[in-house]
Amino acid sequence: MLEDKNPQRTSLEELGEFGLIEHLTQNFELQRPSSLKGIGDDAAVLDFDNKKIVVSTDMLVEGVHFDLSYMPLKHLGYKSVIVNLSDIYAMNAMATQVTVSIAVSNRFPLEALEEFYAGVATACKLYKVDLVGGDTTSSNKGMIISVTAIGMGNEHEITYRSGANPNDLLVVTGDLGGAYLGLQVLEREKEVFKVNPNSQPDLEPYSYLVERQLKPEARKDVVELLKKLEVKPTAMIDISDGLSSEIMHLCKHSEVGCNLFEDKIPLDPTVISTTEEFKMDATMIALSGGEDYELLFTIDQKDFDKIKGNPNLTVIGHMTEKTAGAHLITRANTKIAITAQGWNSFKG
Ligand code: ADP
Ligand code: MG
Repeated sequence: MLEDKNPQRTSLEELGEFGLIEHLTQNFELQRPSSLKGIGDDAAVLDFDNKKIVVSTDMLVEGVHFDLSYMPLKHLGYKSVIVNLSDIYAMNAMATQVTVSIAVSNRFPLEALEEFYAGVATACKLYKVDLVGGDTTSSNKGMIISVTAIGMGNEHEITYRSGANPNDLLVVTGDLGGAYLGLQVLEREKEVFKVNPNSQPDLEPYSYLVERQLKPEARKDVVELLKKLEVKPTAMIDISDGLSSEIMHLCKHSEVGCNLFEDKIPLDPTVISTTEEFKMDATMIALSGGEDYELLFTIDQKDFDKIKGNPNLTVIGHMTEKTAGAHLITRANTKIAITAQGWNSFKG
């Protein structure tokens, strides 16, 4: 599906492990004062003065989390970093460093890894984080990536999943469902391509969705915005698995219930038109889709005026007493219990 635009193939064996590490990491310059020592010693050395440190790690496995038949390696490098930064921002903290570990089989030439690291570099530059280490090893089959993100924050700013109170407002950033639909579009094109390898996919009408899937962004801007607005969320989580599952996490950890209003869920027009084309339900996709990497958070009602009208932020519901449970209030004004998979009526 993706042409090999890189006919040159240098085998990894030619370089050896240390040559490879040196080659892939030579152009990464440290941007953060907190990065005292980056790549090149037995360990990185970081200095955060009196700040609290936030750490998160994620692993991505070929064939499970990504498919190289439609995921360009540069995008994969970018996305691997972004999904980890998103976890740091979800703590209302600033991401500062990452480590990137890769295991690859000898099916990958050096040029493929260069592409991957070009994506890593772009993400590092854009989000102002330093690559300060990693590990490089071989795998029998396919590619495995593990990224660890490190961040910092003041103790009173760090936001947990557990701080939501009844009557707090539930707020989401951006719009939902796009990344999942982008994946559906790519999977459909892959099937078409299998049948007819000469077909040229026309992804233009779906460019927003495909970009949401292949090149997601993390909401660093929202962490900065909330600081500027002087709003400290009471609880926060990033949306990696879908709105319903993240709401359940907030409710469980905060010991509250929730009313989510279907008509408030922010959807891009392409999400609406594409769900119609795919005969899917847009609300269902937003609830269960995942990979949008938006932030979901709760705020005290007294902070509503500070966020009101901001185009990045949408109030989609409010928290309730735990005993009331978590519910979706549909457009038809019926109340349905939310489950991690979506909602009850879609079970079975
Ligand atoms: P060790 O044997 O102590 O694990 P390595 O030879 O694996 O050391 O790594 C040497 C240096 O290169 C370390 O700073 C390590 O963090 C860094 N490094 C190794 N692999 C990668 C990678 N894939 N990306 C970035 N840095 C890496
Ligand atoms: Mg090592």
